[in-house]
Amino acid sequence: MLVTELLSERAEREARRDWWQAAACRTADPDIFFPVSAHGPGEEDIAQAKEVCAECSVRRQCLQFALATHQMHGVWGGTTEEERQLHLHDRPSVPAQRQYAEDTEDAGRPGCE
Ligand code: SF4
Repeated sequence: MLVTELLSERAEREARRDWWQAAACRTADPDIFFPVSAHGPGEEDIAQAKEVCAECSVRRQCLQFALATHQMHGVWGGTTEEERQLHLHDRPSVPAQRQYAEDTEDAGRPGCE
């Protein structure tokens, strides 16, 4: 029983750590996630990126990662840089960092391909 529980916990930890492998953006054009500008032509890229994020099964984990690691550029978890800055301004980053650490348990830096 204990071994089964430990294996189950381990599988759950690995699933949380490897969230980026389920990222919907792995097959999307990476340029739309990192537009040159948030305005003008970049607005269309951001809209397309957000459409991909809206269908992504690991959006929450992605946003937690972006907040915890202070990703300053690009669309992460369906949010732009400006939207994340507003979120961090409203809420201290410590809870996001703690939640991310709990979810990943020092898994290293994931990323979209
Ligand atoms: S940027 Fe994040 S939420 Fe958007 S598709 Fe990629 S992994 Fe999913």
